[in-house]
Amino acid sequence: MIDLHCHILHGVDDGPANRDASLMMAKKAAEEGIHTIIATPHHKNEKYENPKETILQEVAKMNDYLREHRIDVEILPGQEVRVNGDILQEYEEGGIVTLADRTPFILIEFPSGHVPRYAEKLLYDIQLKGLMPIIVHPERNQELIENPDILYKFVKNGAFTQVTAGSVVGKFGKKIQKFSDQLIASSLTHFVASDAHNETNRAFHLGEAYNRIKKQFGSDIEYLFQENPYLLLEGKSIIKEIPERVGKKKFLGIF
Ligand code: FE
Repeated sequence: MIDLHCHILHGVDDGPANRDASLMMAKKAAEEGIHTIIATPHHKNEKYENPKETILQEVAKMNDYLREHRIDVEILPGQEVRVNGDILQEYEEGGIVTLADRTPFILIEFPSGHVPRYAEKLLYDIQLKGLMPIIVHPERNQELIENPDILYKFVKNGAFTQVTAGSVVGKFGKKIQKFSDQLIASSLTHFVASDAHNETNRAFHLGEAYNRIKKQFGSDIEYLFQENPYLLLEGKSIIKEIPERVGKKKFLGIF
């Protein structure tokens, strides 16, 4: 499996405290069948700043350390960028790193309580630059839970989204799990990733999430989620079904 959202680098944000904690996380990932992890430290979220250069250096050091300890997991660079009006300027100046530093995808995080009014235009402008925004964990955003039509509009206009594996398996409670299911059922999300920060209360749960998706939605939908991270890294088109408004289609009987 590939995990495209993970706080595995130590000392850069609220992920692991030291390199041995990172090492243990990578070991756990390998045991769970994850062979590639895109390290996505927080950037510009009011607490942490991790520009591209820092992340590239930390990823290189971590890969050396994993090889030294014969852990068969490859770390690739990435970044979780808190939405802000200067993203494109910072991209021009070299502070933003796309997923794997070679795809057009960038992870965009909204504040947990709301969606800024300028987000719609920004998501559009990001795409005009030839970049592909992936909105991370929309299922945990209060405004999107209350008004999922906002997300529908973003996806219809070309944004991708990523639900967190822990949400799918119920680690953030029933309400968030239900909303994750609704997003999957309405084709409003394209990736599942761990957003793991440690091995305890914010662990991977990626295999469990795929299993639950298979049980709830069938193997075709599970395949889409398993396959999309591979397509992303291979530079191929992401599988994207036509989005629907939440509660308006298929699987209607279930919800
Ligand atoms: Fe994250």
